[in-house]
Amino acid sequence: MLTTPCPKLNLLGLHRLGLEAFFKALGEKPYRATQVLKWIHFQGVQHIEAMSNLSKALREKIAAIADIRVPEVAYETTSADGTHKWVLRLADGNCIETVFIPEQTRGTLCVSSQVGCTLNCDFCSTGKQGFNRNLTAAEIIGQVWVAVRSLSEKQGEHDHAVTNVVLMGMGEPLLNFDAVVTAMNMMLDDFAYGLSKRRITLSTAGVVPAIYQLRERTDVALAVSLHAPTDALRNVLVPLNKKYPLKDLMAACKAYFKNDKRRYVTMEYVMLADVNDSPQQAAELIQLLKGVRAKVNLIPFNPFPHTLYQRSSQPVIDRFRSILLNAGINAITRKTRGDGIDAACGQLVGQVKDRTRRSARYLNKSNRGGEKSLEIPIK
Ligand code: SAH
Repeated sequence: MLTTPCPKLNLLGLHRLGLEAFFKALGEKPYRATQVLKWIHFQGVQHIEAMSNLSKALREKIAAIADIRVPEVAYETTSADGTHKWVLRLADGNCIETVFIPEQTRGTLCVSSQVGCTLNCDFCSTGKQGFNRNLTAAEIIGQVWVAVRSLSEKQGEHDHAVTNVVLMGMGEPLLNFDAVVTAMNMMLDDFAYGLSKRRITLSTAGVVPAIYQLRERTDVALAVSLHAPTDALRNVLVPLNKKYPLKDLMAACKAYFKNDKRRYVTMEYVMLADVNDSPQQAAELIQLLKGVRAKVNLIPFNPFPHTLYQRSSQPVIDRFRSILLNAGINAITRKTRGDGIDAACGQLVGQVKDRTRRSARYLNKSNRGGEKSLEIPIK
């Protein structure tokens, strides 16, 4: 009889409680969990034999049923501004993208949560790639694992290590809730990456029930892809709005930091020329945000092949921002980073084995030639 070998358990995807349960099942003491967590995430070991404070017998016991599998770097590139992008190949052949953005005082890693995205926001190239599947917790934390190792090897080229993580890469993190929360737990754990809750930001297009659930599980920073001040416009730009309209979304945002009066939800607002950037729309945004502890992040639109949208001009962005500032709303313009290597917001595409056939429909619809190849060069 033919049997398919059962893949071993990937220890990379287990947070501390998961590892404790694993060792309990093996009849071992729970403190083994912190030892293993440290070996994998702190020391970066990939082999159980290397865990020298575990007895040989225990290492063999673990290795019989588990291993450590990290995503493979298919391709990596650095833009002129120092932004670094990794294309990571997953075991099933799909590819995802992870981006590191070095700044004066911090280094931000932008992590993907899904292969593609189901939401199909009109101005986002990830959405146009269609969707394949959710990432596992191992594949999400694996991006941090790879980046931390890779950056330390490049010491000198980069001034900063990873100090912040943003879940702003490919996918909608709140539609992959459990894996994302497990991975964030490891980012927060002192025996893994030890980042503070303020240095991890989850960005959502507005999956309202999951915002309430998130609040029960953790209190990382929250960013919301708002992009429009009215339901009529947001229904077009972010179709998820038809399911969770602005009234409900704003209520969820108010509730998120209800118990911490010093924290603000970040509202992301992509600046699209003649679509959402008028003074009247700024005034509508001010009305919408009344009573919500929010700051606004204006994101100049990053173009991608076949898109019909254009970036608002700098004077228009400045005008929009000053209207918000005059109303007492903290608004900043996000600096575009990494656009030279297609690593900027909304430009991450990876290589998605699209199951929705959306990518083909999109290319047919906008069949104007000159389409960018999605083939990933292999070094
Ligand atoms: N699905 C989540 C995570 C993606 S975050 C979310 O929607 O929040 C990526 C951020 O970049 C979001 O705010 C998204 O709206 C924004 N974005 C998408 N496409 C963009 C583009 N072409 N130019 C600038 N920002 C874009």
